[in-house]
Amino acid sequence: MLNPARQRARMVRNQIARRGVSNPDVLAAMRRVPRERFVPAHLAAFSYDDGPLPIEAGQTISQPYIVALMIEAAKVAFGDRVLEIGTGSGYAAAIISRIVDHVYTIERHAVLADMARRRLTDLRYENVDVRTGDGTHGWPEAAPFDAILVAAGGPEVPDTLRRQLKVGGRLVMPVGEHDDQRLVKLVRTGEDAFQQEDLGGVMFVPLIGAHG
Ligand code: SAM
Repeated sequence: MLNPARQRARMVRNQIARRGVSNPDVLAAMRRVPRERFVPAHLAAFSYDDGPLPIEAGQTISQPYIVALMIEAAKVAFGDRVLEIGTGSGYAAAIISRIVDHVYTIERHAVLADMARRRLTDLRYENVDVRTGDGTHGWPEAAPFDAILVAAGGPEVPDTLRRQLKVGGRLVMPVGEHDDQRLVKLVRTGEDAFQQEDLGGVMFVPLIGAHG
């Protein structure tokens, strides 16, 4: 079996770059973060497979390609402050943290938030704050954000989250019913103006919360 660094290089080449993700910062971060540290120990051998994997609390760590696609679409860059809803394993937050200034991430299951916090600390990824709670309220004290990524699907983009974007900020979220979800990108173009783009069909676990 290839060592993890070589498996990551192969994952980036075959699963991510080949499907059109080209942002060099995203590809470099995906090459760098050890996904095997974010999956349950008994599934470590499948860390670099081309799909989601089950994690604790009946949730999933997303497919590497989808993580890369969402981060590229959100146009995150050096200096940004980014909010993620749905920490899950902490993997996507770890990737984002290698690119931007600071990541704020919220997870409703305390067991997942605690594990993610521990992993990120062990890896010395110090620019990530993990909070347990309902992410549909956003993180008002840290707003506004350059980008918001929502890793769970809801019927519409919660207004609370739109309002926590900077003007010029980007939000990426799966919208729709479970069997008919589209990955949607919003750009806040003014105080009350948003541009919306459809990035294609996806399948995510549901966003469960007051504004979900
Ligand atoms: N980004 C994660 C990763 O890298 O492992 C994958 C996230 S998983 C697809 C979606 C997560 O969203 C689940 O862990 C779920 O518990 C969480 N979630 C759903 N609704 C939520 C809410 N209202 N607030 C915070 N987390 C929520």
